[in-house]
Amino acid sequence: MRKVQAGTEAVAREVQKPDEQWRQELTPLQYSVLREAHTERPFTGEYVHNHADGYYRCAGCGSKLFSSDAKFDSGTGWPSFDEPLVAEAVELRPDNSLFMRRTEVVCRRCGGHLGHVFNDGPTKTRKRYCMNSCSLSFEPATASQDAAAAQEPGDGEIAQSGPASS
Ligand code: FE
Repeated sequence: MRKVQAGTEAVAREVQKPDEQWRQELTPLQYSVLREAHTERPFTGEYVHNHADGYYRCAGCGSKLFSSDAKFDSGTGWPSFDEPLVAEAVELRPDNSLFMRRTEVVCRRCGGHLGHVFNDGPTKTRKRYCMNSCSLSFEPATASQDAAAAQEPGDGEIAQSGPASS
């Protein structure tokens, strides 16, 4: 297993914390995945079969990373997405550990290891962002998000205060 010493990373992160603080704030599993780039066992994560609407944030720093709209059932045992919410939210870098050529996905804001991305996705993006559940924190869609997403015609007052006019 490849060990990443988070504190020695060359890239300056928006969110940087001493190693001890990460250890205190994260569960042991989250620490081993986010900060040491380990992989949780398949079919053990809480989001593998989560089909609820909402957003997946980085469990390390809270950065919004994926929408439930991009989630699909890959059958791999890890939550899988066909694209990040915005490309800038994640950083991709080559990972040649374990005698494989893979592309690691890390959170751009805190540098936390999220998983890997593969080019065998079933949707038009062809991407399969294979993520660790424990690297993510699911935020269910709120009633206000639902209202904004499906603005009811005829409901004049709500429409006027919607995002289009503000
Ligand atoms: Fe993060």
